[in-house]
Amino acid sequence: MSLVTHLECSLTGQRYEAGQIHNLSAAGKPLLVRYDLDAAKRTLTRDSLAVREPGMWKWRELLPHDGEPVTLGEPETPIVALPAIAARECASSLLVKDEGRLPTGSFKARGLAMAVTMARQFGIERIAMPTNGNAGAALAAYGARAAIQTVVICPAETPQINVTETAAYGARVYVADGQIDECGALVGKGAAQDLWFDCSTLKEPYRLEGKKVMGFELVEQLGWELPDAIFYPTGGGTGLIGMWKAFDELEAVGLIGSNRPRMYAVQAEGCAPMVRAFEKGEEFAERWENPATVASGIRVPKAVGDFLILRAVRDSGGAAIAVSEDAILQAVEDAGREDGFLFCPEGGAVLAAWRQALERDLVGKDERVLLFNCANGNKYPLPDRSKRLVLKEARPEAL
Ligand SMILES: *Cc1c(COP(=O)(O)O)cnc(C)c1O
Repeated sequence: MSLVTHLECSLTGQRYEAGQIHNLSAAGKPLLVRYDLDAAKRTLTRDSLAVREPGMWKWRELLPHDGEPVTLGEPETPIVALPAIAARECASSLLVKDEGRLPTGSFKARGLAMAVTMARQFGIERIAMPTNGNAGAALAAYGARAAIQTVVICPAETPQINVTETAAYGARVYVADGQIDECGALVGKGAAQDLWFDCSTLKEPYRLEGKKVMGFELVEQLGWELPDAIFYPTGGGTGLIGMWKAFDELEAVGLIGSNRPRMYAVQAEGCAPMVRAFEKGEEFAERWENPATVASGIRVPKAVGDFLILRAVRDSGGAAIAVSEDAILQAVEDAGREDGFLFCPEGGAVLAAWRQALERDLVGKDERVLLFNCANGNKYPLPDRSKRLVLKEARPEAL
């Protein structure tokens, strides 16, 4: 049995029972899952963790499912150093947690593995979601695994590879003429008609529980120490909110102290609702009109968890940072050429934001900084810089 005691509205604290299907709270805000942390503390120890099979499921005391998980073999993702990029900025080190190693090539796998596990537990037969790409692919893959039908609605600018990948897992995929929140409105309409379960970001409580494992994992990988700063590409903010929750849970079960990293929410200048709200000192973020960026995973004009993102950023002493399209593309190119590491564009945004933060003295050159690369760079179109070669005429010494 899971150690879930109840769920709680993230805004009002209103209590909801476990063991029932939930979407948003009565206040229209995300629900947070709460656990019997005293019970978790008894068995979730550094020693017990060390001998468990690696991966997200080993944190079972702090996960919501009862039965077998729906899994595609989620690995613990490595933390990779970027020594050349660090040296160029005269920084002592720079670390990247490479989430592109997960099934379906993005960290959306963590959240959707958990959400689909819970959906199967509740006997849900059909799930729908709006997506900029990676979430839909992960939903479709885990849905196929669990024999749950999936319906995925993508904005027109969704990368083609995501659309075709999602279809390959047997989902019904639609490309729509609107932004992700507008696709989400259609999904909500269908859910109200009982056509499917709405699995939109933070509109169901369990994706967050899968995503928060990133926080558990990085702490264990860093020898039970927290980095000084975490840079996270922020769309709906599930990962940032999830990690912030994870750190509190780790403290409550005695695995870490009260130290926290500064959290930096990274957005693109062409879609930066969190940055605008952060700078204006607002608790909630207004919708960003005409969003545009190559970093499709963070092209989210309106996030239902806006206040949770802003709270975590402020409570941690971090900031919300916007970067230009040029800086994103330059960062992807630099890390590929200099460190052999292929960021996705959202990861490029994070590297660009770290560079900006160094310049603005928000982070120090000797601090331990962890960047998130959230998808495999190969999932995105890249510039073709190859040259044509006529083999009969080619001289090897000229190559
Ligand atoms: C979804 C996504 C993000 C944003 O993640 P959130 O936790 O929803 O903010 C960032 N990068 C990539 C590659 C994504 O697919």
